[in-house]
Amino acid sequence: MTPTESISIDRASSSDGQFGWQVLRLDRLHPVVSGNKPFKLSRYLREAQEGGYRGILTFGGAWSNHIHAAAYAAREIGLASVGIIRGERPFSLSPTLLDAERAGMELRFLSRTEYRELSSRGEKWTHLRFPGFLAVPEGGAGAAGMSGAADIMRFIPKDVFDWIICACGTGTTLAGLVSAASPGQRLLGVSVLRGHTGLEHDILNLLTGRSGLPTFRIEDRFHGGGYAKYDDELIDFMNRFHARTGIPTDIVYTGKLMMAVDTLASEGFFAPNERLLVIHSGGLQGNRSLPSGRLHFS
Ligand SMILES: *Cc1c(COP(=O)(O)O)cnc(C)c1O
Repeated sequence: MTPTESISIDRASSSDGQFGWQVLRLDRLHPVVSGNKPFKLSRYLREAQEGGYRGILTFGGAWSNHIHAAAYAAREIGLASVGIIRGERPFSLSPTLLDAERAGMELRFLSRTEYRELSSRGEKWTHLRFPGFLAVPEGGAGAAGMSGAADIMRFIPKDVFDWIICACGTGTTLAGLVSAASPGQRLLGVSVLRGHTGLEHDILNLLTGRSGLPTFRIEDRFHGGGYAKYDDELIDFMNRFHARTGIPTDIVYTGKLMMAVDTLASEGFFAPNERLLVIHSGGLQGNRSLPSGRLHFS
């Protein structure tokens, strides 16, 4: 695991200045391998190392935070990596994929149909085509991803916060937080996918067999049109949030997360004395997909 001294808990406030919350800055973990992805990857990397694998093989799109983190994290511990990328090889690679290649990841491009088949059940294929490689699910999802994400709770002072709030893609990170939080705490996940009705079910599935867990709920109003979709309202919010708090956010997850907390606070969702910890899960590298100048920070 990368050094963790740089993680801090910083203050943020709502647009109207009436409400404050704390932000766990996982985005500060490492210049490249930041956010929740190194946590989700940690158990897979350990399995690859201890099992004597040559490397890891995993899946993602052209701007994937997971692919980016996996390439660097594998190299840091001397493992090879293969990235199976959704879609045809483009004429010029995204900065994300260029970084991954520079970190030594071998990229393979698959059509969307082939990708869908392999990313869901690619283990056999991996053994045949890439012997000695451990298949890691897209996004570092699954039980091992959840165990790794539970380590995030180690950076949160015990029993201080009433709410722990994070952005949700697959919900693996939220499941990990639920598994390690205190029974009296409440967890809130802000989904960034439109119509992801199976999310709560997926999280409960990961938590099967555990008892005495805190409660969690999902907010599904803040996907902003769908995964990785953005509009002027979001960009303006992210610029104002940065000007007010000094905290940069990303367009896919954490910008929508902070906007959700801001809106919920203005709606009176939280009691005035409740203490909130919002997890900044990183993803800033993906902001390079925006035309330059849209964000007043980088
Ligand atoms: C992947 C990712 C998430 C979502 O994590 P899940 O465990 O899939 O819910 C949230 N924030 C950022 C920045 C991410 O890269």
